[in-house]
Amino acid sequence: MSPSSDSLLIRALHRLGEACAARAYLPAGFVIIACVTVYAISGAMRDVALALMLMVLAVCATVMTPKHANSLSGFALVLLCLVSFGMHRRDPQLFQSEQEWLHIGIATGILLLLSGVTGHFKHLLARMAAQRNELAETVTRFQELATHDELTGLPNRTHMRELLGREAQRHKREGQILCLAMLDIDLFKRVNDSYGHPVGDRVLYKFAQHARAALRTTDVLSRWGGEEFCLLMPNTSLQAGMRVLERMRGQIAALDLSRIDRDLHITFSAGLAALSHGESMTEAIERADKALYQAKAAGRNTVRYFDADMEAAVTARILLESELNEALREQQFRVHYQPQVDVTGQMTGAEALVRWAHPTRGMIHPSEFIPVTEETGMIVPLGYWVLEAACKQLARWATRPETAHLNISVNVSARQFRHLDFLRRVLGMIDTHVINPRRLRLELTESMLIENIEDTIAKMSVLKSRGVSFSLDDFGTGYSSLAYLKRLPIDELKIDQSFVREVLTDANDAVIACSIVALARSLGLAVIAEGVESEGQRNFLMQNGCQHFQGFLFSEAMAAEQCESFLGRQGLHAVVTPTMAQVRTASF
Ligand code: C2E
Ligand code: MG
Ligand code: MG
Repeated sequence: MSPSSDSLLIRALHRLGEACAARAYLPAGFVIIACVTVYAISGAMRDVALALMLMVLAVCATVMTPKHANSLSGFALVLLCLVSFGMHRRDPQLFQSEQEWLHIGIATGILLLLSGVTGHFKHLLARMAAQRNELAETVTRFQELATHDELTGLPNRTHMRELLGREAQRHKREGQILCLAMLDIDLFKRVNDSYGHPVGDRVLYKFAQHARAALRTTDVLSRWGGEEFCLLMPNTSLQAGMRVLERMRGQIAALDLSRIDRDLHITFSAGLAALSHGESMTEAIERADKALYQAKAAGRNTVRYFDADMEAAVTARILLESELNEALREQQFRVHYQPQVDVTGQMTGAEALVRWAHPTRGMIHPSEFIPVTEETGMIVPLGYWVLEAACKQLARWATRPETAHLNISVNVSARQFRHLDFLRRVLGMIDTHVINPRRLRLELTESMLIENIEDTIAKMSVLKSRGVSFSLDDFGTGYSSLAYLKRLPIDELKIDQSFVREVLTDANDAVIACSIVALARSLGLAVIAEGVESEGQRNFLMQNGCQHFQGFLFSEAMAAEQCESFLGRQGLHAVVTPTMAQVRTASF
């Protein structure tokens, strides 16, 4: 019998006792009076009356509370003694035999014993009931702790594994379809880092509550660990599972965190997998995990489901990540420099572009690996490595008169620019390599500047006061706000190659390119066009006021030594016309 059912029985007995005590108190009193009366008046029935009274009292002792049973027994004894004493006084012949007194003595003894024993017994039962209740509560609490997450109240990983195991068995037996999703709150580390762990905990709790609101009664959401959750959806197809997750996305979007911070919003990514026949739950979890990985790689706030093509993509991606880590350790990266020229074709500087000298695949271009390094955060050490290489190159070029005038532009990713140590590291490199900061130009993109504009301006101003200049890369492709542009301490706009490519064939691109040049002029900024591949493009841009160019027309990016030999061949593409001579005004 379980402790709870046991204590129920004891409680029921108590209730019965109390009810009996309340209801049977008077009838029992009357029966006792009746027995004593018979005892007094009928000599023949005396023993029967005494026995009947004892029986009534015994029943009362078992069903009534000790207090009531004792008072009834006391009442019966006092009555019996008074009647016996009265009878003896009236007729001393009546209680002559010792046997009579013995009967009364035994009756008294039995009554005292009965009330003592039942009272003790009941007290013991009550104590046992209380202890059992306490024990049951402790067991429930321990079970809760062992199977549930304390913060969110959701089933924990261990318990979820049990549930998943049971569902997998059912799936095997009954062939029911079922779906499984792994969920992860996007950029949760930032919440913890920016607001502290107590706020992080509150966000997790709220996430769990809102996510649960989107589920059906049969779905089970569990906390898998950290900011990761596992969702089990029995009897659910992939399509239906997708709908559940989309509903959940709606719930999370409506989550109001304005009491923490007006700008705080959270999203989640999820990977979905259906359990296939003959497959173990561990395999299904792995597939959901891979789909989650894809959802994150696709820019987060996304739901992805697992398919076979994805398997190959995910495996390749995991391999790429580990190879990139190794590349950083083994120094497999190289910096190439793409010349930047003025209207006469003279090289004024170069853009530092990273390359990966892969041990088996040869030279790999950044478009293949920079996005991955940005997602994993590896761009921060890689970016500093490129910056250091560029500073060393500037120091080397500064020692020779023919290269001393060259500038180097270095691409800085958003993540690196936001890095807490950014200013210290850049200034430290300038000092360590003793370079002229005016020869160093940092290329930033529009979108990364607008986020937290005040901080951006402050950082840029510190570097600018040391002489470092800034170029806005890929200009025209972001969401440029002219109001922001005016406030930012920028030196140069770089027309994105997508406009340059079609500048002779697409009227819209031509208008955009010319507008950027005009804008730069009106703001007093320099302007450079990247991706210039033909004389025609260069001439058109030049005629419209652009004074600096970069592109395959002049050279691809190359090793620093080759750059130096390029210097000897420069001027090859210069177009010297009266108009161009006028245009050639500003130097880099
Ligand atoms: P970006 O900064 O806009 O660099 C210009 C890209 O255009 C370079 O590609 C360059 O090789 C290419 N390019 C130059 N001239 C021409 C041309 O005439 N035609 C064509 N079709 N392309 C031309 P790359 O080297 O593959 O770099 C791609 C992007 O990778 C860069 O775009 C930059 O955003 C990023 N990147 C490269 N190196 C670094 C780095 O050290 N740090 C960071 N954060 N990003 C980097
Ligand atoms: Mg660039
Ligand atoms: Mg660019």
